Amino acid sequence: MPKAARPGASPPRARLVAKTGGSRRRSALPLPERVEGIFRRFAAANPEPKGELDYHSPFTLLIAVVLSAQATDAGVNKATRALFRAASTPRQMLALGESGVQGYIKTIGLYRNKAKNVIALSQKLLDEHGGEVPHDRVALEALPGVGRKTANVVLNTAFGEPTLAVDTHVFRVAHRLQLAGGKTPLEVEMGLLKVIPEKFMRHAHHWLILHGRYICQARRPRCDVCIVSDLCHSADKWFEGPPPRVASQQGKAQA
Ligand code: SF4
Repeated sequence: MPKAARPGASPPRARLVAKTGGSRRRSALPLPERVEGIFRRFAAANPEPKGELDYHSPFTLLIAVVLSAQATDAGVNKATRALFRAASTPRQMLALGESGVQGYIKTIGLYRNKAKNVIALSQKLLDEHGGEVPHDRVALEALPGVGRKTANVVLNTAFGEPTLAVDTHVFRVAHRLQLAGGKTPLEVEMGLLKVIPEKFMRHAHHWLILHGRYICQARRPRCDVCIVSDLCHSADKWFEGPPPRVASQQGKAQA
């Protein structure tokens, strides 16, 4: 990844435009063409985007996503490295017990509640799904600690479904790129599902998350290195002078 623009730096606009193809003008393209252009560029830049949580099975993915609520992927990976060595199946997780799981995930926020959910969902997987993670939204959302966002991640990443989990990054990028509006993650998810062409749906979730995490950052969007800047209509877009400090416009992420 390129380095972040130095706060206060104000490179001449002509240089930025030459380097990034960026533009201060609003694209005149109708929405479908703009969306096509945005996702074509994401696809060209990163044809096989990957999430940043470590896992090696649908079960370890499910646990990692449950643990990641209000925590960073790096923090979760640090904890799960040892946890998954000790337990990588529902039965092994049950054998560890709640206090055993707590011991591995103490560095993650809300760890007591998360450990409780890990044990309860492992039990439910054994009781109702033969120890397997179900390939089914309703069954996933019935698991302790699993909400729509977690179910979407598992359906997309483990089972290849064209679902789209809306976390804080996706919520922000969808608004800035004016792909979808709404006050809740569910409204934004529904809006995105309407405008993103099917051919891009498999990876749309990861492209939007990675763009939000590394480029279209909340307080200082890195418009000078953004590959879709000329297709962006955001009022937060900048090209001259120091990047603005932007008031948070993030919605509450769902579990
Ligand atoms: S980084 Fe800037 S130009 Fe790119 S999508 Fe975000 S606000 Fe728009």
